[in-house]
Amino acid sequence: MTLQLDHVTKKFGSFTAVDQLSLEIPANHIFGFLGANGAGKTTTFRMILNLLDQSQGTITWNGEKIDYNKTDEIGYLPEERGLYPKQKVKEQLVYLGKLRGMTKKDALDALTSWLDRLKVPHYLDKKVEELSKGNQQKIQFISAVIHNPKLLILDEPFSGLDPVNVEIMKEAVVELKEQGTSIVFSSHRMDHVEELCEHLCMMQHGRPILHGDLREIKRSFGKKNLSIQAD
Ligand code: ATP
Repeated sequence: MTLQLDHVTKKFGSFTAVDQLSLEIPANHIFGFLGANGAGKTTTFRMILNLLDQSQGTITWNGEKIDYNKTDEIGYLPEERGLYPKQKVKEQLVYLGKLRGMTKKDALDALTSWLDRLKVPHYLDKKVEELSKGNQQKIQFISAVIHNPKLLILDEPFSGLDPVNVEIMKEAVVELKEQGTSIVFSSHRMDHVEELCEHLCMMQHGRPILHGDLREIKRSFGKKNLSIQAD
């Protein structure tokens, strides 16, 4: 269950958003993409998910291209949150669960269990727009994990959350990894990546300027230098 990117490049016209990115993302790990605005993180995720064609290179997961047959195995928290504000939490999450092959009962059970894990009150019959931004974000996270995906891609999962909720979400991410999910996430924050990841890729202007095992990178560069590069 390795995710492999081989010389992946994305051009928008003459502009190169991702440039020759080659990476191996091991199974059952948390892999962090770190970089400033515009570094190419979201574009990379969209190519991994086959939402965007790469201009060059190949991406495989478990040796195969990711396509629509694999949506049951993959969870995605997009950077631009995409819940329907006027729809009730229960209706929306059960619908999304059913799209991924779950029964209504299984989706509802998973939803209530996740609400407990993320410490969200059981707002099943509230419209999404009636929830606080933090709770909306947690509901969106649940929509990415409700079907227990094997590969989970989280685009800036902690942005906009207060420190207590960041901790709750981090615990959930670690639990998912321990249950066998491979997780790829992006962040602007070195401390989040450092705390959660075994592997990282630091991107700048579409290029990986540093990638590999975090402990080895820290040994080679020293913590201080690494933090400076992430700022
Ligand atoms: P952020 O942290 O701000 O989300 P990012 O690392 O996710 O940034 P991307 O969204 O991948 O960065 O964008 C990388 C570059 O590609 C940016 O310069 C962006 O303007 C450009 N880009 C992204 N999508 C398109 C598009 N559809 N057409 C043209 N340029 C694009």
